[in-house]
Amino acid sequence: MRSFSLSNSLPTHPALHRHFKPHSRQAILQCWQNGRASCWPLINSVRINGAPKVQTKGALIKTLASVADVSLEQEAATPSLPKGDMWSVHKFGGTCMGSSERIQNVANIILRDPSERKLVIVSAMSKVTDMLYNLVCKAKSRDDLYLSALDDVFDKHMRTAKQLLEGEDLAQFLGQLHTDVSNLKTMLRAIYIAGHATESFSDFVVGHGELWSAQMLSYAIKKSGQPCSWMDTRDVLIVNPTGSDQVDPDYPKSEKKLKEWFSSHNPANTIIATGFIASTDDDVPTTLKRDGSDFSAAILGALVHGRQVTIWTDVDGVYSADPRKVSEAVILPTLSYQEAWEMSYFGANVLHPRTIIPVMRLNIPIVIRNIFNLDAPGTVICEQPIDEAMDDETADNNINKLVKAFATIDNLALVNVEGTGMAGVPGTASAIFSAVKDVGANVIMISQASSEHSVCFAVPEKEVGAVSAVLHSRFRQALEAGRLSQVEVINNCCILAAVGQRMASTPGVSATLFDALAKANINVRAIAQGCSEYNITVVLKQGDCIRALRAAHSRFYLSKTMLAVGVIGPGLIGRTLLDQLRDQAAVLKEEFNIDLRVMGITGSKNMILSETGIDLTRWRELMKENPEKADLDRFMQHLQENHFFPNKVLVDCTADTEVANRYYEWLKQGIHVVTPNKKANSGPLDRYLKLRTLQRMSYTHYFYEATVGAGLPIISTLRGLLETGDKILRIEGIFSGTLSYIFNNFEGTRAFSEVVAEAKEAGYTEPDPRDDLSGTDVARKVIILARESGLKLELSDIPVRSLVPEPLRVCSTADEFMKKLPSFDAELAKERNNASDSGEVLRYVGVVDVVNKKGLVELKRYKHDHPFAQLSGSDNIIAFTTTRYKDQPLIVRGPGAGAEVTAAGVFSDILRLASYLGAPS
Ligand code: ADP
Ligand code: ASP
Ligand code: MG
Repeated sequence: MRSFSLSNSLPTHPALHRHFKPHSRQAILQCWQNGRASCWPLINSVRINGAPKVQTKGALIKTLASVADVSLEQEAATPSLPKGDMWSVHKFGGTCMGSSERIQNVANIILRDPSERKLVIVSAMSKVTDMLYNLVCKAKSRDDLYLSALDDVFDKHMRTAKQLLEGEDLAQFLGQLHTDVSNLKTMLRAIYIAGHATESFSDFVVGHGELWSAQMLSYAIKKSGQPCSWMDTRDVLIVNPTGSDQVDPDYPKSEKKLKEWFSSHNPANTIIATGFIASTDDDVPTTLKRDGSDFSAAILGALVHGRQVTIWTDVDGVYSADPRKVSEAVILPTLSYQEAWEMSYFGANVLHPRTIIPVMRLNIPIVIRNIFNLDAPGTVICEQPIDEAMDDETADNNINKLVKAFATIDNLALVNVEGTGMAGVPGTASAIFSAVKDVGANVIMISQASSEHSVCFAVPEKEVGAVSAVLHSRFRQALEAGRLSQVEVINNCCILAAVGQRMASTPGVSATLFDALAKANINVRAIAQGCSEYNITVVLKQGDCIRALRAAHSRFYLSKTMLAVGVIGPGLIGRTLLDQLRDQAAVLKEEFNIDLRVMGITGSKNMILSETGIDLTRWRELMKENPEKADLDRFMQHLQENHFFPNKVLVDCTADTEVANRYYEWLKQGIHVVTPNKKANSGPLDRYLKLRTLQRMSYTHYFYEATVGAGLPIISTLRGLLETGDKILRIEGIFSGTLSYIFNNFEGTRAFSEVVAEAKEAGYTEPDPRDDLSGTDVARKVIILARESGLKLELSDIPVRSLVPEPLRVCSTADEFMKKLPSFDAELAKERNNASDSGEVLRYVGVVDVVNKKGLVELKRYKHDHPFAQLSGSDNIIAFTTTRYKDQPLIVRGPGAGAEVTAAGVFSDILRLASYLGAPS
């Protein structure tokens, strides 16, 4: 407990502004001005699990009743119904009451609560309500098994009671249980014969779970020596059905009944009440509908003006998203009433959506706590000012902090009523929704574009048949006359809602949400944002639901970019990349908020797959020990089906044309592609153009920096020049590390074949050096750069000077080739000497002549002082001549081959992708 000092400065006291609405504030101030002393008892502050909360209770409420909207205050309390802060209200959910040990545990918690008065609302033991609904269903469908199903319910309670109670208490409870079950048997028999059960019959049956659990708990508390009464809330709570599987409490009548109950029962200070059940105005038993015990607790809490309502369940509090769907969800320490309401309405079943209203009216906080983890402080739901987070030192205006939580509703259908005849015609929307109401369907979300051309709304999928039928019949004339063009039903939808009170005042929240969804390749079908701006709702394909939830949650909540990686081809480059990923993963995660997980590795024969990420310290063993047969379709499906990672990338480290041919299909499905494989970009022009068009049209990325200069920034330099408006005139370079090495060392002291043999020996060449000497690889790089510069060339348009002598092209092995190569040394020696005579050297280069729209690969002579002549080792060098870099070309130089640098080039493309997807830079 903590009080804040009001001091002399009440009018400017921050707590007054933070915790009271303007009208309440005004009343308090008025009272303060009339005489400070009289005001002080009105205000007290308590700390609930760490969250400051100022309560407007007792005298304050009475004083403020005229200005604050507290209708429940209007009736004067009678001495027989004590009200106020002395009451602590608890609600225990089904899991808390799941067994005799758990019920005893609940009893202990109640016994430890030092409050003067305790009102405890309980659910049925877990699964019991389902069992009871199920047996009504069986009886209705004349399935004899209803009898054994009833026996199961009886047995469950008898067993629990025997473990929990003893002596007279046990005998009394079992006697009651027996009577109840006999009555139920008679009733179910009647339902069986009629083949039908009215709602009140069914409600009567299913409410028994709460009757039994409340009695057992009450006996258990009494057993421990504390006086305790139990309350059948059918005697107290009066509700009116609303017609759409909901009921509205009748507060004045319920309060009257509660007073009567108090006078007639003179209960102990601890009362155990049944959740879920109530009566109608005509005294017919009914329920508050599924999961309604939370609602019962809120109504009763409001009727006694409790200090706080604690809802005990099986999770540590309200999470930022359903913890079953988002493992990174975090506990929210506080939520405003509106936020909690929006979350529960949009599917967070930790709280029944109607729980908020009764307590909000009296500013009673709700605390959600975990019965299995008493150390967790839980979530406090209370009134919070709009600028709450502004006061928070840790908060800044970062939009990531504005969305508190996400929730989803599954299995919806969208109905789209469309037609030009709707524009400007009053009453169309009203006609649509009154038709929908007539079939009792529950409209979850509505969206109408301001052109008034269409109205679209979401209803539960099971209700859409009736909705569609009624709309077709009501609007038959309009449809026939063409005023309405269609009533369209889109099945298999779900809703994702982002909830947060501060979203209202900040631009950019929806842009960020839609960006996160677009980047995860998720299509949004409809959007709604209420003007309260407590939530933004989007309708999506059901299949995208969890992926969307995770994409949005990670974007806003964790600012973490999660990327599932599939590596194709664990050859030299692939292997090196996997090792680099292994070494860097932790740093990326901790320092850069990028969570990269390799979900699959496939070679040409075997593959390994994982749901959560392959252990990269062991992938070689796993590949040997327990591989599956390689199957690229399954590989890609595995990646695609992992809904926990919204972003996926396939890294093709092969040199395979077949794999490259699949990029289009993958990109189309929203899977990003990163590759050092040249085959796609140097393949047929039409395929290349199709790929690039798709890439430009979508948010799906295709990066291939390593196709030209391994780790050197060649493509990105070229892009940078083009994007900033420079014009490329010519690109000329030594693109092959092997040929760079060979010509840097072919200086006249040794024969050409000797230098080739040395390069082969040192591992600089392909196993068959003809693959390098033919120049095809350089031609592929030339075509990639030519196309990147806008030239529409085919590989066959590039004249290539092959260094493989014509007669040796047919040699069947590399060895045979190497043996015969010396006999052709003379020709190249002559060329080299001619160059040398004019102070020049030979260099094997690729050229993109953008001005003349040509590309070529040739052996060219360069003066000794030319940068190309001064190269050493196996370095690559590329010169860009542009309108800006005309006199002095822009030069990129460095090692352009080798597994380490090529893998690093691929890795840096993966990180570029992560930053495009929202990773911080
Ligand atoms: P009880 O039987 O105690 O009323 P419920 O099953 O009705 O419990 O509600 C608790 C469950 O709600 C949790 O076990 C959790 O799986 C689910 N849930 C869904 N969304 C959320 C969320 N955002 N935060 C916490 N729990 C959630
Ligand atoms: N026992 C009821 C149900 O399962 C009410 C509740 O537990 O909230 O729906
Ligand atoms: Mg519940």
